Amino acid sequence: MPIPIIIVYGSRTNFDPLGWTARECPRCRKVQPFQGYDKVQSKHVYYIHGKEKSIGLILICDFCETTYGLRPNSSEAQETRFTRMWRREEGLGALVEKTNPRLGQVAHFEQPTRQELFALLESVNERSSPYKTDAGKGFGRGAGIGAVTLPVLLLLLYVVGLGFGLDALGTGMFGVFVGGIVGGIVGAVKYKFSRSKELAQEILVSAMTRHALTLNILERALKHYPGKLKYVSSGLAELASGA
Ligand SMILES: [Zn+2]
Repeated sequence: MPIPIIIVYGSRTNFDPLGWTARECPRCRKVQPFQGYDKVQSKHVYYIHGKEKSIGLILICDFCETTYGLRPNSSEAQETRFTRMWRREEGLGALVEKTNPRLGQVAHFEQPTRQELFALLESVNERSSPYKTDAGKGFGRGAGIGAVTLPVLLLLLYVVGLGFGLDALGTGMFGVFVGGIVGGIVGAVKYKFSRSKELAQEILVSAMTRHALTLNILERALKHYPGKLKYVSSGLAELASGA
């Protein structure tokens, strides 16, 4: 019999930091510092990696933390200049001068504008959506519980004469199978929603610390926000009740 040959291949993605650049954040609707990353990918065969190739330019707004992606060959990406020689204390003006002087003089505000706060709330809401969070261990845990609970329940019914045509072994196996799948799905969904709540709070706390914002400022901004931000509202409510 021939020995099957399995070729192990795949790819690895890295984010190489490029430094800072100044540009307008469409969400904050003002010029902001952005941290740039080169998203590079290298293919491997048997874990021997080939050359790294840029597959995109990632820009993260320093205020609202919204992530923007640019194609590596786009003129926008090629025109973007970065510097590693800038610190937040130097102010936005200094960064504009170093990386994007055509933006000219930028206004300096002591307090974040309402639009910036809206942008931050939108971005937190997006990042804490349960549809974006990983199911983590939720599926496995739920499947474990389901695969134990359902067969026990079905076997009890079987014993009292409420079986559904299968023998004891069949009933048990059916319970393990269906209980595992249903339990896994329920577990994953539950995990995603509880993780989403935690995540909203974690991101809010870190944003408040970084920008010296109070809970009160964010709550007020949320009240004026035209629309609904479900995950960020529940995160803020939870923080307020815990504070
Ligand atoms: Zn922004």
